[in-house]
Amino acid sequence: MSLNTSRLYEAAGQAEASEETIAGLDAWRSLEPLQQPTYQDAEELAGVLDRLREVPPLIFAGEADRLRDHIAQASRGEAFVLAGGDCAESFASASADAIRRRVQTVLQMAVVLTYGGSLPVAKIGRMAGQFAKPRSSDMETRDGVTLPSYRGDIVNDHEFTPEARRHDPNRLLDAYHVSSSTLNLIRAFTTGGFADLRLVHEWNRGFLGSNPNYHRYEQLAREIDRALKFMDACGADFDAIGSVQFFSAHEALLLEYERALTRIDSRTGDPYDVSGHFLWIGERTRQLDSAHVDFLSRVKNPIGVKLGPTATADDALALADKLDPEGEPGRLTFITRMGAEVIRERLPKLLGDIGDRLPQVTWVCDPMHGNTITSNTGYKTRRFEDVMGEVAGFFDAHYDAGTIPGGLHIELTGDDVTEVLGGASEIDEEGLRRRYETLVDPRLNHDQSLEMAFQVAEYLTD
Ligand code: PEP
Ligand code: MN
Repeated sequence: MSLNTSRLYEAAGQAEASEETIAGLDAWRSLEPLQQPTYQDAEELAGVLDRLREVPPLIFAGEADRLRDHIAQASRGEAFVLAGGDCAESFASASADAIRRRVQTVLQMAVVLTYGGSLPVAKIGRMAGQFAKPRSSDMETRDGVTLPSYRGDIVNDHEFTPEARRHDPNRLLDAYHVSSSTLNLIRAFTTGGFADLRLVHEWNRGFLGSNPNYHRYEQLAREIDRALKFMDACGADFDAIGSVQFFSAHEALLLEYERALTRIDSRTGDPYDVSGHFLWIGERTRQLDSAHVDFLSRVKNPIGVKLGPTATADDALALADKLDPEGEPGRLTFITRMGAEVIRERLPKLLGDIGDRLPQVTWVCDPMHGNTITSNTGYKTRRFEDVMGEVAGFFDAHYDAGTIPGGLHIELTGDDVTEVLGGASEIDEEGLRRRYETLVDPRLNHDQSLEMAFQVAEYLTD
């Protein structure tokens, strides 16, 4: 901490806050966190964590606070949250082009939603840190060979060899550095002119002109263009449209990593996890007494919790009590992921049972994780119609209950992959073979992402 800050504390008669003086930041250690890597060499791990405790923050506390304000607006229906990106980022896919296409896709979706829904959209990437995956099984067997499961590039490598699948603590540092370079590029793209709304046509460039939603987007871009020219002619001030704020998010799964990247905010003395702006707790680690819930209850970032089909009102209320005891808007987002059929029964019941007891919570729809199937050709996939069915069920449930549908959380990529069945270009089971590239879960491709945005914009205006 700088001399000036220390002096400020002295002048205010306060002891300078430090990680040691923040009680409980390490309480999770006694709670046996689920889904953690198993490292062979404790010394090697300790060395890596020492280094991670010293590295510069990836995000600033003030930025996380700003995102919390946007999410608070979404809880009141004054904004909409759009979070999108890979299921699992990989070190290899952190190239400038791949990052640009993902950012472009989220920006395009956001502009469709903003224009269609007449709402500001908070843009969040499942990016710059989405490297750790929870797995249902520790081991994977292929052709009679059993090896540790792939747990994301931050833990081990996807290749199916004993060496690649070893849990390697040095990957924690690699993940930090890849996050850092990814975020650096995202910041350059979104504040350096590329995200200027006057370039709304440019964001469509480089994508396949044959994709059906490309043309629909072009038409919308022309309308925006005309509106901007009109505003320009009226003498409007365009400063605000020259850049966008783009936030990073990931599942806070590896608690040693998240803890090592937790810093005390010099403005307030509060701990923030500076590995990303928004952090969420997954469906598999959200038990009320879990290490993950304990740790995230103690950092000040805006946080999310996934709620699957078994979540009850009691679960939701107890989680809110623990994670957001002050009832602060923007602090807590529930991300429901129930499945296209199940949501129509479970979400109305959940919202009905909660009643008016959680007015501060922001509700976001993850239409991906309740709709995963295996194709007859052996691919882990999803049907676009199921994904859209869950989105429709989400809007219906909230509109019926009088609560606010606050956002979307989706797995997408800017590439023309073939991982999700259906959509306007009608990818079928055979078509999945063409370009199936994901390391874990199937993602919407660029065209399917735009199609979703056009549909959701209609729900927002209904
Ligand atoms: C995910 O978001 O990639 C994920 C694993 O989700 P969930 O915890 O909802 O299964
Ligand atoms: Mn996933």
